[in-house]
Amino acid sequence: CGIVGFVSDRKVKVEDLISGLKKLEYRGYDSAGLAYNVNHSIKYLKKPGRISEIEKLLLNEGLLEESFYSGIAHTRWATHGVVSEQNSHPHLDCKEEIAVVHNGIIENFQELRTELEVKGHIFKSETDSEVIAHLIEDKYNGDLFDSVLKALKELEGAYAIAVVHKDKSDQIIAARKGSPLVVASNENISMLASDVTPLLKYSKEMNFLNDGEVAILTPKGYSLFNLEGVPLEKKPIRITWDE
Ligand code: GLU
Repeated sequence: CGIVGFVSDRKVKVEDLISGLKKLEYRGYDSAGLAYNVNHSIKYLKKPGRISEIEKLLLNEGLLEESFYSGIAHTRWATHGVVSEQNSHPHLDCKEEIAVVHNGIIENFQELRTELEVKGHIFKSETDSEVIAHLIEDKYNGDLFDSVLKALKELEGAYAIAVVHKDKSDQIIAARKGSPLVVASNENISMLASDVTPLLKYSKEMNFLNDGEVAILTPKGYSLFNLEGVPLEKKPIRITWDE
């Protein structure tokens, strides 16, 4: 299982998300999917099976060449819910404004889901992960970073997540607790992945998130914070090996 994401001023294409996912194929997966932000809407596609099948679909629809602002992708190794299209990631909120990819297990998802359902949220999957999208929607006040921080405070378990919002084309919010996550940037693009392999093509300076760290990625770079939203000074590590 793995996640990858890019944010830039349309300097990356959907095919870059796909090649990023392919680098993470070795980690094992049963489904794959992606979501990206173009012109104030979230487009997404997800499916059980091989990455090459999603690639074929995107090719047929002429979307492989599409450039986007913020985009995230996922390979799933199912832990909660069968292998199906509904259960594949990304997961979205009710209004399809927020998309989330998640690796790990949310231990208290059932309690959170029940609370959110009482508030009127309609769930589409059997996964533990979908609760993250609805929880962020529930906290959303126009500030994506702030609403993600508030949601993270309520999550128990392990996660590496990446979140995009239809109106925040210059942002990806990412966080780690218990599942690996690395961020990097160059002059035009900021990026994240479960390991360095999808990112080496773009940068050699990697910042490995520790548990309890949150990143805001923008086309101009990334900033790291703790779960209280306090900025962290953390230098990247230079990787000396090639792609
Ligand atoms: N627990 C989540 C699910 O079953 C994420 C699994 C993963 O890490 O890929 O969908």
